[in-house]
Amino acid sequence: MAVKKRFDAVVVGAGAGGAAAAWRLCEQGLHVLILEAGPRFNPGADYRLHRPDWERFLFPDPAGSRGDFTIGTLGRLDPADEELRSWNRASGPLVRGNMRQAANPGYWHVQGVGGSTLHFVGESHRMHPDAMKLASQHGAGCDWPLDYAGLEPYYTLCENLVGVAGPAEQGARWRSQPYPLPPHPPSPSARKLLAAGRRLNMKWQENSRAALSMPFDGRPACNYCGNCSRGCPLGDKGSADVTFIRKAEASGRLTVKPLCPVVRFHSGAGGTIGSVEYIDNKKLQRVETPILILAAGAVQTPRLLLANRNRLYPEGFANSSGQVGRNFMETLSWSSSGLVAGLSHSHAGLPADVICWDFNAPDAIPGVIGGCRFNSATQEIGFTGPIAYASRVVSGFGAQLKNGVRTTFGRVMSVGAIGEFLPNEGTYVDLDPSRKDRLGMPFPRLHSQLERGEIQRLKFMASQSRRLLKEAGAELVEEAGAWDNFSATHVFGTCRMGNNPKTSVVDSHCRCHDHSNLFITDASVFPSSGGGEAPSLTISALAVRTADAIVSG
Ligand SMILES: Cc1cc2nc3c(=O)[nH]c(=O)nc-3n(C[C@H](O)[C@H](O)[C@H](O)COP(=O)(O)OP(=O)(O)OC[C@H]3O[C@@H](n4cnc5c(N)ncnc54)[C@H](O)[C@@H]3O)c2cc1C
Ligand code: SF4
Repeated sequence: MAVKKRFDAVVVGAGAGGAAAAWRLCEQGLHVLILEAGPRFNPGADYRLHRPDWERFLFPDPAGSRGDFTIGTLGRLDPADEELRSWNRASGPLVRGNMRQAANPGYWHVQGVGGSTLHFVGESHRMHPDAMKLASQHGAGCDWPLDYAGLEPYYTLCENLVGVAGPAEQGARWRSQPYPLPPHPPSPSARKLLAAGRRLNMKWQENSRAALSMPFDGRPACNYCGNCSRGCPLGDKGSADVTFIRKAEASGRLTVKPLCPVVRFHSGAGGTIGSVEYIDNKKLQRVETPILILAAGAVQTPRLLLANRNRLYPEGFANSSGQVGRNFMETLSWSSSGLVAGLSHSHAGLPADVICWDFNAPDAIPGVIGGCRFNSATQEIGFTGPIAYASRVVSGFGAQLKNGVRTTFGRVMSVGAIGEFLPNEGTYVDLDPSRKDRLGMPFPRLHSQLERGEIQRLKFMASQSRRLLKEAGAELVEEAGAWDNFSATHVFGTCRMGNNPKTSVVDSHCRCHDHSNLFITDASVFPSSGGGEAPSLTISALAVRTADAIVSG
């Protein structure tokens, strides 16, 4: 096996966290190697939006662009909570029986240069400052070992690099600088939602979006096609490939190796990691490194640490606390959709373009700790083409089906909600004892249970969403939520950040307590998930902060 020359740092994974850390290290003069398990995509050719059958394919499609995982225990459904069952007008209930199920694929992500940001719709949020102090202020969940003020300069830096378009103010999230770009104009469905929300005295506003409202840094403005989660062919969406990776490569100090999954770590001197092994073109390769940054995402990062055991680390790397894989947090989500008379062209526009933060603080929902937010969701949940209407809104065949699609197309309005998920004992990632990849590495296995607080939060999210649709005069046609349908896009927590090495995996600068040269810069480190904030901006801000800590020693 060839041992490669040393880089100043090796980064595992080219997603929101890995790309941002690599960019900052390159900017500070270090030579960095990124090892990325998935392919490099060509947006113009691979994202299919130019093809007549575009709607049949959900990105990512090419083989090898999704990681290995299996689904373990998801829990039982209590008939007392039946009001939360997912359904649509064309198919009836989406999940039958009393067991919670994983929607195909259950855990949505992309393996590739850009990671899951290639799939994301680009909401770009800062954490609510109080969501980082859940335990001390509300006696639930866990505190972050840093506060909002410590992250604020890094939020600003990342927003300016990525090109975030947003409003002047966002309540509790104070800003030292305005967003670099003005907010986007609301789409037709968002305008209806804004009007209904305001009649209900809710404070709705433009969402902060990593999509360009005007040309920026050599990238064009958004064309409002609405299909961000199928991959953005224009490159205006601020995914990690066209932002952090592009900038880092321009420095001349970044080497990216796609299709090179890392499989093994080797110990170095004094409790460090000395080298990593990866597969390149079916051959095992090894690279030594003084700094290793693990950013494979909240599912694959614990898998790599747990699967790598040796005499010194029988429970896996970085795992003296036994916390690797614990504290997993899935996406607590809800959406309600309805047909609105007089609405047209609701399929077009930027996804999630308006938002309501009224219930996002940890104590904002009556009777339950942990917040949520509401947003326009028509495009995000896929009402962007006729197949969605034919299969979800209209029933029947032949002429009846055609007429149904003709009369309903562009009239669906959806409201979505995402809420806090507090860690619990039954929610974790471990290694599947029966499924291994071709190299013998066990698949990661996802277990998730909803506790009573999550169910109560979901009920609030559902009732507010229905209230909004009723106010807009909508006729309900679909509802979907995390009660029966495990469908995670935001995943966190499996290598928690904290000051105490007995209860956390990394410190406040994302350095592993157990290995002085191993850093984790992905969503694994979040101690709490926030009240529905989209995570990528926080992941990138933490990663840049970690890179600064590495450089300053
Ligand atoms: C449909 C969808 C919509 C979303 N919308 C939003 C949104 O609007 N806003 C937002 O902030 N977030 C959104 N998200 C979530 C967001 O994309 C993720 O939270 C974020 O990308 C996670 O960053 P990460 O660095 O933790 O992991 P990722 O971005 O997933 O990156 C991990 C990388 O590591 C690589 N990797 C894994 N294993 C290995 C290995 N063994 N060797 C080498 N490389 C490896 C993977 O291939 C991947 O490229 C969305 C996600 C989805 C799926
Ligand atoms: S809506 Fe805008 S950001 Fe989203 S895919 Fe289309 S062009 Fe890209």
